[in-house]
Amino acid sequence: MVPDTERALLLQQLKNYLVFLRESGHTHAPLNSELSELPVIATPSGTFHDSSPQPLESQMTPNSPFPESGDNRDLSAGLTDVREELGDCQRCKLCEARQTIVFGSGNPNADLVFVGEGPGADEDAQGLPFVGRAGKKLTEIIEKGMLLDRGKDTYICNIVKCRPPGNRDPEKDEVEACKPFLIKQLKAIRPKVIVALGKPAASTLLGRTVPITKERGTWHEFEGMKLMLTYHPAYLLRAYTKENRQAVYDDMQKVLEVLKA
Ligand code: SF4
Repeated sequence: MVPDTERALLLQQLKNYLVFLRESGHTHAPLNSELSELPVIATPSGTFHDSSPQPLESQMTPNSPFPESGDNRDLSAGLTDVREELGDCQRCKLCEARQTIVFGSGNPNADLVFVGEGPGADEDAQGLPFVGRAGKKLTEIIEKGMLLDRGKDTYICNIVKCRPPGNRDPEKDEVEACKPFLIKQLKAIRPKVIVALGKPAASTLLGRTVPITKERGTWHEFEGMKLMLTYHPAYLLRAYTKENRQAVYDDMQKVLEVLKA
């Protein structure tokens, strides 16, 4: 008989692994006969070992409506490696109440990356970013406002990968603990444009307190990548005014101009 605590840990690790497979583009869990071909396996310690010759993202076909950037994206230091390094992270206290690490989702070769604040209850339960109400609003902005495909044209992640209890703001030490992984994610993808959603994301990426109302719609730079600041979709839902909706629409049109250049 497996003790309850060990069972809970094993279930958590299995869940993290299944979420990881889904993040990596798998649509089903491999059966025994396919196990030898699995590119990534989870160990009881919660870390991932790559047993395949190729990183997962190299098996995925980029599908972007935008011109090739001609850059040299380092797939060997890709998202799979960053996720592997993160493992079953206990680097800050947010690990204590989380159900799932919400690493990010979308196209690892996307030209456009959205960075939000942190997972909420829906995201924590599903292991995917922006799947609740704010997520639906973000999808609407991407698909109706920008005429892009959320899954194919974008990658979405947060400044912290675990849900802050009660949906409070992430604290400074939590952001600092998680930030290296955000930076590695962004460097692995190296998109043409990063969009910071809301003040916490903008402030984290720029390393200063950003008055988002004043600075939204302005261009900045992060590690050589263009960075646009705009409102968080959750704020848009709270302050659902024509003016705010227009502001986000205008910001996204600026992003599109750069993507299509
Ligand atoms: S928020 Fe980030 S640093 Fe903190 S436990 Fe989760 S993954 Fe680790």
